[in-house]
Amino acid sequence: RITGVELQGYIRTIPDFPRPGILFRDITPLLGNAAAFRAAIDAMAAAAEAVQPGAIVGIESRGFLFGAPIADRLGLPFVPIRKEGKLPAARLTVEYALEYGESRLDIHQDALEAGTAAYIVDDVLATGGTALAAAKLVELVGGHVAGAGFLIELRGLGGRERLGAYRVDALLSFE
Ligand code: IMP
Repeated sequence: RITGVELQGYIRTIPDFPRPGILFRDITPLLGNAAAFRAAIDAMAAAAEAVQPGAIVGIESRGFLFGAPIADRLGLPFVPIRKEGKLPAARLTVEYALEYGESRLDIHQDALEAGTAAYIVDDVLATGGTALAAAKLVELVGGHVAGAGFLIELRGLGGRERLGAYRVDALLSFE
């Protein structure tokens, strides 16, 4: 069995990607090791299960890699939040600031039954802007946020503070 401490060793750090000065945390070695990937899903699913959500909400695209197997593991519906313009049915959009410029995320209007406790999943928590936009979308469609779970938290970028209104779970943490 692979423990949380050992999982940290499956994250590869790439300097100056996608831009000079950025230390990119690359999760592909973890995805590429069946035991490590399973251990990560097991631990993230256990964190989600603790708040008894009614749905798992994954953020495109790496949030899908973790959110969908967690939903399957817990026997819960999976709801995708996608980059603007990709969802086909009636949708709601939230705009949020990126380091350079802005971006938009969409959710289907009928994605959650009213009052559903949604657990938001993504691979990495950095500034928290993406997850906060996802939380707004959940609330706009009538759900409420039971918590947010990440494989990796990048400390010192303010993500946890920015999501202060919500419970935040992170399996791994980097400075
Ligand atoms: P935030 O909105 O600043 O919290 O950035 C989080 C989003 O950017 C997530 O959807 C991540 O997939 C992505 N991201 C930010 N930094 C990294 C990284 O070092 N590795 C992988 N993804 C990252």
